[in-house]
Amino acid sequence: MKTLVIGGGMAGLTYAVVACKNGYDVTVAERNPRVGKKISMTGNGRCNLGNVRLSPARYNNCALVKRVLQNVSLDEYKRFLNSCGIYTYADGDGRMYPLSDSASNVVDCLRFQLSKFGGKLLTDSPVTSVSKSGDGFEVNVGGKTLFYDKVVLACGGKSQSEATNLRGLVPPNALTPLAPSLVPVKVADMDGSLNGIRIRCSVSLYESDALLGREEGELLFRDYGLSGICVFNLSALIARREVQRKSGDYIFVVDAVPRLNELELEEIVYRRLKAGERDKAFYGILHNKLSEYVLRRAGVSASSAHIARTAKNLSFRFERLLDWSMSQVTAGGISENYLDVASLALPNGVVALGEALNVDGVCGGYNLYFAAASALYVFSAEERAKAFSLS
Ligand SMILES: Cc1cc2nc3c(=O)[nH]c(=O)nc-3n(C[C@H](O)[C@H](O)[C@H](O)COP(=O)(O)OP(=O)(O)OC[C@H]3O[C@@H](n4cnc5c(N)ncnc54)[C@H](O)[C@@H]3O)c2cc1C
Repeated sequence: MKTLVIGGGMAGLTYAVVACKNGYDVTVAERNPRVGKKISMTGNGRCNLGNVRLSPARYNNCALVKRVLQNVSLDEYKRFLNSCGIYTYADGDGRMYPLSDSASNVVDCLRFQLSKFGGKLLTDSPVTSVSKSGDGFEVNVGGKTLFYDKVVLACGGKSQSEATNLRGLVPPNALTPLAPSLVPVKVADMDGSLNGIRIRCSVSLYESDALLGREEGELLFRDYGLSGICVFNLSALIARREVQRKSGDYIFVVDAVPRLNELELEEIVYRRLKAGERDKAFYGILHNKLSEYVLRRAGVSASSAHIARTAKNLSFRFERLLDWSMSQVTAGGISENYLDVASLALPNGVVALGEALNVDGVCGGYNLYFAAASALYVFSAEERAKAFSLS
């Protein structure tokens, strides 16, 4: 079967490798000069490939993800990676990395498998249109009109890319609105003195008085607002609401001292105030600049109780998600309402995979995992087993 895979990212390369190991005549068309640009950027260059403690509830589209992951087990994903020469380990939080700790090495392994099993690669080849033609498809690849029996759309999302990938490739009504996700947020009245300070803390996101989510982990203060994994994961909740065209008054509340409860913290601050050491209220507890900021926010004559409460409830009013160039993932995409969920095929028969779909997960290997799992899902168990047995 003459097959065109549009996009050489995790989803497209996974699909192409399994397809050529099963004897398909496969071509990957990639608009960039090289495949795997986004894989190379992941996990700070180490490639956080998946998560051994993954929970479908941490994706926007839990039902579709559950269906894919019930069909493609973690063990199968690992067997696929092993068959490509990629061996993995998991860190204490369950995040999977390649033993090489190198994202570009992962791209090399996938690229090598593709060429070893006869897959063709067209780089600098943007696909600009796909239309049904007889039993197959007429496709414009890098300015040329070509014909294929099967087309697989694995062109990813809009994050960190100049073009809107899906324009011209799927009917506009197949697409939800898009929003940048896993992205820093701009907040009102940010104090520039905090720029660059990283803390381990707990961050809650409220809309009016309703708690939308809470994350523990690293927060990075920037002069424009908040960044870091905690904030990225909470940004996904806002992005998903923007996809549904919902806006809201969001407040981020930072507990800067999550390891002490308010009473314990108040007691320490009380003793220091009593000793005339207000400026040292958070010595040994908070970064000096953050300590000065908390004391400023609490006010000069604040009680120990008020100072402790301030440190545990630093609130920041959300203004906006930062733009696509700062985001890791796209919220929104091809709607599941437009897909045959069993085959991930659009009504015209084009199969859609990975981030091009309306599926986004939190940080921690969720997105690469889904991209690869969606590609494995569309093959039969026999085809997968055959591919895993060849290396
Ligand atoms: C900085 C950063 C860090 C990240 N870290 C992690 C992480 O640690 N773990 C994790 O799980 N996820 C991470 N992600 C998210 C993850 O990289 C993506 O979700 C995943 O790569 C999506 O895979 P994909 O194959 O669906 O799409 P992509 O990887 O985006 O691949 C799509 C490919 O299609 C090509 N393309 C697009 N349109 C066309 C067209 N018309 N014609 C031809 N080619 C086209 C693109 O150039 C691209 O190469 C990170 C993302 C970024 C930006």
